[in-house]
Parts: sequence; structure tokens; C-alpha cells
Amino acid sequence: MKNNTNKRNNDKRESNFTNKVNEKDLNKVNNGVFVFTKSLTVGELAKELNINATDIIKKLFLQKKIVTINQYLDDDTIGEICLEFGYDFQKKNIVNEEDFEKIEFNDDEKNLVERAPVVTIMGHVDHGKTTLIDAIRKSNLVASEFGGISQEIGAYQKTYNNRKITFIDTPGHEAFSQMRSRGASVTDIVVLVVAADDGVMPQTIEAIDHAKAANVPIIVAVNKIDVPGANPNRVINQLAEHNVIAESFGGDVMVCEISAKKNIGIDNLLDMILLQADILELKANPNRYASGTVLEAELDKGGGPKATLLVQNGTLYSSDYVVVGTAYGKVRRMTDEHNQVLKEAKPSTPVSIIGLSEVPQAGDRFMAFPTEKQAKEIAEKRKNRKIEETRNKSGGVKSLDELYTKIQEGQLVQINILLKADSAGTAEAVKSSLEKLNNDQIKINIIRAAAGAINESDLLLAAASNAIIYGFNVRPSSFIRKKSEEEGVEIRLHRIIYALTEEVESAIKGKMKKEEVEKIDGEAEVRNIFKISKVGTIAGCMVRDGSLFNDSNVRILRDGTIIYEGKLESLKRYKDDAKEVKAGFECGLKVANFNDLHEGDLIEAYRMVEKE
Ligand code: GDP
Repeated sequence: MKNNTNKRNNDKRESNFTNKVNEKDLNKVNNGVFVFTKSLTVGELAKELNINATDIIKKLFLQKKIVTINQYLDDDTIGEICLEFGYDFQKKNIVNEEDFEKIEFNDDEKNLVERAPVVTIMGHVDHGKTTLIDAIRKSNLVASEFGGISQEIGAYQKTYNNRKITFIDTPGHEAFSQMRSRGASVTDIVVLVVAADDGVMPQTIEAIDHAKAANVPIIVAVNKIDVPGANPNRVINQLAEHNVIAESFGGDVMVCEISAKKNIGIDNLLDMILLQADILELKANPNRYASGTVLEAELDKGGGPKATLLVQNGTLYSSDYVVVGTAYGKVRRMTDEHNQVLKEAKPSTPVSIIGLSEVPQAGDRFMAFPTEKQAKEIAEKRKNRKIEETRNKSGGVKSLDELYTKIQEGQLVQINILLKADSAGTAEAVKSSLEKLNNDQIKINIIRAAAGAINESDLLLAAASNAIIYGFNVRPSSFIRKKSEEEGVEIRLHRIIYALTEEVESAIKGKMKKEEVEKIDGEAEVRNIFKISKVGTIAGCMVRDGSLFNDSNVRILRDGTIIYEGKLESLKRYKDDAKEVKAGFECGLKVANFNDLHEGDLIEAYRMVEKE
């Protein structure tokens, strides 16, 4: 068992959260350095620096800044004051682990090593992007790459002159901007392919705009120079009109002439990429837990969620625990573009991994963590937050009370309703009567209208979209009812369309009256049926939740649908009449005027009480 802990014991990687300093050292002076995390008032700062607040006020006054003792100071001013009074200062941005996307790595120069440039190829359709990707892949093949050309993932590393270049394999700017729209920037250099026989075209211009917006340098590859009539100079002139100025024109954009098809100028292009990489001084710290971006992801038939990741900082080891979006998991298998198993992946390496709990989205950021517990906790926090965010975005109200209050305040309100009814026809009917209530101030948005019992997926959808659940002739099970309380989802139940619409209408009109609400006493399951002549059907039941009382109202539910509502005629423990039978006990009961009970039916006992 000794080997079981293997690399973790000699894992010398730095945590990505070195910013996590001891609470007690924050906003304090340590060895002459004032370490602060937040803005402070003049008074607070004076206390920590052991000086008089009036000294700070005077100093700032001399700079024509008038402040009072309770005024908050910005970071720059705090820094200035520290220096004035002989302290060094340091601002720490504390990033919670679940916000790992926000980490800014401030690595010591000595820990940084060169990393491969990451290149995306863009350009107008048919200008030769795919042909170029192919030509690069095949050019200068190292012996070890032979036979391994078939590619498994959407990015690959090319070794050229003993240096590596990473190519993202989805050419075009759609993937590029999709990533960017998700806040990910993976590309260091854009290679803009322009066909010499066609010149600058609409998508060429779009690609330029995307690269510029992302502040990524462009290398122009003027392609198809083998075609008779090709005119590279015309391309260079046209590009200048779009502010892409070639070096030969006095600008800083490298241009090379190639033929992807005839394999001309490819090495020159690779040289330029490496030159541009040198200019950019691309570096990373391999001695950290890995972080980077999902390039693509899918559900693999055999292996579950499969994702191509680009490691951008740190080193990813197989068997690391990774969090991506709201998914997490242990890297069970890590492979390169040739499907070769990798043990570790350094910065700028694209890898394919399996082991995540869900399929992430392209553009999601990932980070590796030392323990499964940590990874799981972070993923869960993120999941909860996501639900919260969708909730806030959906703009609905969580209850009729909230709807009423918002209307009173004159706000525009959207009310999201999830509707379940005993049949699809009724669901439609209720839906259309509700939609008639729309007016200038209210938008009624039915997010689901379907037949069937209220189930867990309804609850999740309602929670995520801030919806009120309306049940028409259907009931939630006691499990769902409890869960709805936990999730803060309001469930309202009706048996008459008119009563349902009237309720919503009065809330809209601001006529919320003191209403009677139902209080559930308990729930019992029918276990045995005894048909007794002259008496009727007696049900042998087990009380599963709460209590049944002899004066309870009852509802009979079959498969989540109400089949009868009425009162109890009798309630017995063994032979004796009982006032109350609690959960966990058996009882015999008869429902007044109802004999069609079946085994497995649920009996819900409730009473009406005035709402507080
Ligand atoms: P993409 O749409 O930008 O990916 O363009 P492709 O790589 O699919 O190329 C479009 C067409 O141009 C194909 O028929 C290629 O064979 C052809 N092509 C690409 N590069 C060259 C080149 O350097 N010279 C010539 N003559 N044809 C090329």
C-alpha cells in the first residue's frame, strides 16, 4: 500500500490560492508592510498604522483632498499614506476558491518558464484554412509522429526546430468568438489566411475585427501563391485599408506568402510564429495546480463526459481532481492528440480527459485541486450559485405575496408559472385562462403546462426560473412538498379553474385578502381493503407522515392525481375509535360516501386555517 499515496507526497506544486493569507494578518502591519484587502476609513487606517487620524487628514489636505475621519479611502490613497508614514504596503485580492476564474497569477519571474504559443487559424471560407492546418500537421514530421497522424482531439502540438507550437484545430472565428463570449482567451497568435487570388473578403474583415477586439497579434498568410494570377501585393494593400499594416509597409504585422496545397512557405510561417511568440515572451509557471480552458466536450459512448482541455498554467497530472463549470471529477485517463496516454501536461498542452461528472461547455475554465473533497465542494457551490443566478435573471416572483408587493410598488412584474394538471386538455385550458390575465403591468409566463403529478423535475425547473407551481387536480407527494419548502418554491393547488384564475387575478389587482390556507395534517398509504356489506369499504392504512385526525378533511390520491375529496367517517386503531393516529402506526378508516379505495392509494389529511 506504500505506493498508494505516490506522487501526492512529493507533489511540490504550489496551491493556486497562495493569496489565502491568515485572516488575522489582514489589514494589519506585518514587518513594516501593511497588508490590506479592502478599503478602510481614515480612522481605521490611522489606528493600524499607529498614527493620528489628523495627520492623515492634514497630509491629504495639503494635496487639496478634504476628508473626514469616517471617510473611506481608495487603494491608491491608502498606499500613498503608508509610504508617507514609512510603511510598505501590499493590496491582496482575496479570491474564493469557487471563483477561480478570477485568479490573477502573479508568479515570481524565477518560477516562470517559456511556454508554447497557442495559434488559431482564421480567414474567409475557401481561402485554405483546412488545407493549411493539414499541411502544418504533415510538414517536418518527426519519426515518432508517423502513424500517429490521425487526430483524436481538436488541437495539436507541432514540434518545429525543437520548439512546440499549439494549434487550435477549429479554424474560423466562430469558435474563437464563442470562446471569447464565455470570457476565455486561449489564442496567443492569429494566423489570418487570405487567398492571393481572391483578396480580402467579408470574413477576412470579421476575423481581423475579432483578433483586434481580443488584442491578439495577427500573422498574415497570403495563400494560394501558386495560382496563376495570384497577387500578394494586392492583398497587402487591401489589408492596410483595414489597419493591418505589413512590416514592409512600415507596420508591425508579419506577412508570409504560402501555398498550403503545394507546401510552399510553411516552414517560413512556422518560423514567424515562433518569432512572434518570442516577442510576446509567453511564459507560465508549471509548478502550480493546472488551470486552463475547455476547447471542446462531448458525451463519449463508452467513457462518459469527455473534454479537450488546454492547460494554460500549471501542470495537470492524470489522477488530479478537476472542477469545470459545475462539473468535477478525477482525471481518469489523459491522452494527447494521438491518443497516447499522458501522465502530465505542462502549460500550452492540449489534452483529452475523461472522468468529469458532467459534460462541460467549450470556453469553460477549469482548475485542478489537490483533493476530491475540495473539488466536490467547489463544484457544488458553483452549482447552487448558478441556480441562484438563473433565478435572478428570470425575473419572476417566488410567491403570490411577492407579486402583490411588487404590484403595490407599481413595478412591472413577470410571473412565471409552472402548471401541472390531471390531463393535458385541462392544462391547456388553465393555461389559456391564465394568459388572458396579461396586462400592461403583468406578464404571465407559463414555463411548463403538462399533465401529471408534480415531480422533482418540475421543482428544479421552478426553482431555477423563479416560478410558482400551480397544481390543478394533482398533488405533490410529501417528499416533494418538503423539498419545495427547502427550495423556497411555492406550490398552490386548486380544483376549480375559476378559483385558480381568481386567485391570480386578485393578487394582480392588489386584492390579496386574508385567506384560508390548507394545513396538511398527514399522509397515509392504503395497504389492505376490506369490503363489508352494509358498511362499505374499510381501508387498512399505514400513516407515513404527520398524523391523521378523525375530523380531518381527506383527499384520495392515485398516481399523484386527486380522485376524491371528502371527510373521514371513522378512524380506528384496532377495534377502538381513535382521535389521532401518528406516523408509523397502522389504522383502519372509512371515507364518508366513498368506497372505491384501492391498495396503494394515498390518503392526504388536511384542514383549513387562516393564513398568518
Ligand atoms: P477553408 O474553407 O478556408 O478551410 O479552405 P480549404 O482548405 O477547404 O480550401 C479551399 C480550396 O482551396 C480547396 O479546394 C483547396 O484544395 C484549395 N487550396 C487551399 N490552399 C491552396 C493553395 O495553396 N493553392 C491552391 N491552388 N489551392 C489551394
